[in-house]
Amino acid sequence: MEITADIHLTRNAGFILDVDITVRPRGITALYGPSGSGKSTLLRLLAGLERGTDKDRIRITSENTVWQDETTFVPPEKRGIGFVFQQQQLFPHLTVQGNLHFALNRQHTQNDLDADQVYEWLHLMPLMGKEIYQLSGGEAQRVAIARVLLNGAKCILLDEPLGSIDTASRSRILPYLDRLHRNLQIPMVYVTHSYEEITYLADYLFVLDEGKIKSKGSLLELSSTLELNSVEGESAAAVIQCTVAKHDLTYHLSELDFEGATIFVNAENYRVDESLRVRIPARDVSIATTQPDNSSILNVLEVEVVSFEENPGPSVLVRLRRNKQFILARITKKSLNILNLQRGQKVYAQIKSVALLMENTGE
Ligand code: ADP
Ligand code: MG
Repeated sequence: MEITADIHLTRNAGFILDVDITVRPRGITALYGPSGSGKSTLLRLLAGLERGTDKDRIRITSENTVWQDETTFVPPEKRGIGFVFQQQQLFPHLTVQGNLHFALNRQHTQNDLDADQVYEWLHLMPLMGKEIYQLSGGEAQRVAIARVLLNGAKCILLDEPLGSIDTASRSRILPYLDRLHRNLQIPMVYVTHSYEEITYLADYLFVLDEGKIKSKGSLLELSSTLELNSVEGESAAAVIQCTVAKHDLTYHLSELDFEGATIFVNAENYRVDESLRVRIPARDVSIATTQPDNSSILNVLEVEVVSFEENPGPSVLVRLRRNKQFILARITKKSLNILNLQRGQKVYAQIKSVALLMENTGE
């Protein structure tokens, strides 16, 4: 299912949502932006949970069907979408299994999903007999996502689904969501203000600010831009695409091919030739102008300085390019000056290998 939306909506309080987006038929499209930027409003419009007034200009289509324009309004239950909120509305009087069977029995459309497959992706078998109150926040969200899938959703809209979950549980659920999205044939629209979640999950990104789209593109294009990362402080990170080249079982390290260079990580759970995304926090990357030797850091990449932040702070982000991909380094302004870094200069990026791999489920 592909969805396109062209929206110009004005709220009484003066807020204007003015966006034009396309949700691709596969993968996770993320709506990212600060609180109040209009993410939930946009998601609710896509779902048909909100419809604006006669003064607004709203056109939403899915494939060849108009969901909303001046004359048409398709109600939410006819759109074939599933909605996952921050706080779940699972049935408290039913067990996990009860909740899931309820969804299966009430399936309004067929989406060719195999229930057992969904349980496996979201690791639900151990939870089946539990009561809803016995679930952690992250577990409840996994059940909630399974429920909308089993209910026949052809697209899932998630509004800050991990927003009320503590950081530790959040990092436990991210790998499940990641695995789900790599296997799922239907699209998800994922709303969040967490850059970490974006770098783990998003394929495409719409960055919202005050009701407008500030930037859009694939995660691989956008995640390494200074524009997006400048406001992220310690969370600044680039995402790159690598391919598993080989495994070294002696050291439990794998070699990933990254634009013709080798990155060493623990990636034993991936197959050789499998392509994967690697998240590199900017704070774990340092720069040397000559090839470092005698270093404990395994990952040293020859790269080119593309640009760096011009700001008054003590540290700067530097954008580095290797062929078609980019990484970021956060270094002190003092280092920038001492190394006398120039745009176009060839340098060596040293990456602490521990920071590299996206978490996986370990199965
Ligand atoms: P986000 O999800 O990015 O935090 P929202 O879409 O919730 O942003 O809100 C966008 C703007 O619309 C904000 O200014 C907010 O105060 C306003 N708003 C949100 N919901 C309503 C509502 N039901 N009625 C009036 N204004 C609202
Ligand atoms: Mg919101």
